[in-house]
Amino acid sequence: MEKITLHDKTFRPFIPSARIEEAIDKVADEVNRDFEGGETVPMVLCVLNGAIMFTAELLKRLKFNCELVSIKLSSYQGTHSTGTVLNLLGLTGDVRGRTVIICEDIVDTGNTIIALRDMLLDKGACDVRICTMLMKPDVYDKPVKLDYVGIEIPNAFIVGYGLDYNELGRNYRDIYVLDE
Ligand code: 5GP
Repeated sequence: MEKITLHDKTFRPFIPSARIEEAIDKVADEVNRDFEGGETVPMVLCVLNGAIMFTAELLKRLKFNCELVSIKLSSYQGTHSTGTVLNLLGLTGDVRGRTVIICEDIVDTGNTIIALRDMLLDKGACDVRICTMLMKPDVYDKPVKLDYVGIEIPNAFIVGYGLDYNELGRNYRDIYVLDE
């Protein structure tokens, strides 16, 4: 694997796609364990654009009936979180009385996921689960437990597998870290 350049920055290989897929297998097993054979038809919520690859891969592995909805949020500009979560595209379905499994690419401070969780509960969802491909345990500072976590990573800025640096880098199958 070689380094990649996006805009003005260089990124070096960090997590190979095989390791990512292994993590998604593990997460899918956990989600299946909780929902397979149950009565509920959960809504899988893809947080655009970053979680698009993760959500697609996770969906392929789910063995129970579920619906897919999406939403577009943003709290990141360049390589840092702004702290303010913007709702750029409204939720594409009605969550009243439903179980919602939020699919996120990465949880950093947790501002985005907690704002989204609160918004869903506010809109009447009866159960909200958080499922994230990656998380940064050194930065996450919210009292809410993350239900399903793929891989924990140190506090670094990464791209690839759906994650971008100013919109570039989403298409790579491996994950890269900022080469400083
Ligand atoms: P939080 O609100 O938890 O601080 O940040 C979550 C959002 O920020 C993620 O959905 C993602 O869009 C973005 N983000 C956080 N860390 C990274 C990172 O290392 N790389 C990229 N590309 N985006 C990140």
